[in-house]
Amino acid sequence: MFCSNCGKEIDDKAVVCIHCDCAVGNQEKQIVVQLPKQQKSYVAALLLCFFLGTLGAHHFYTGRPAQGLIMLVITFTGIGLIITIPWAIIEFFIILCGGFGTADGGKLV
Ligand SMILES: [Zn+2]
Repeated sequence: MFCSNCGKEIDDKAVVCIHCDCAVGNQEKQIVVQLPKQQKSYVAALLLCFFLGTLGAHHFYTGRPAQGLIMLVITFTGIGLIITIPWAIIEFFIILCGGFGTADGGKLV
């Protein structure tokens, strides 16, 4: 077959063109490995958000350490509580309504 990008002849089973490194047609034949989604406790996330929400505990718990760390740092500036308290309250209600999952798209159970 021929590369759809540069037009040069390439191996029929090629996934990437050897001439231009462009991905070619065979990709869909690659098996997509789906990892099982994380299962985290709904109640635990809710309680962590309620008691330690301003420290980003519910973010650490659901696999978002970066977001948790941001909340933690903002809270430790002291004045930042003005931001993180309403932030945590909003997210508490998001968790309550079931709109909060794990970072990899899993649901809280
Ligand atoms: Zn090519």
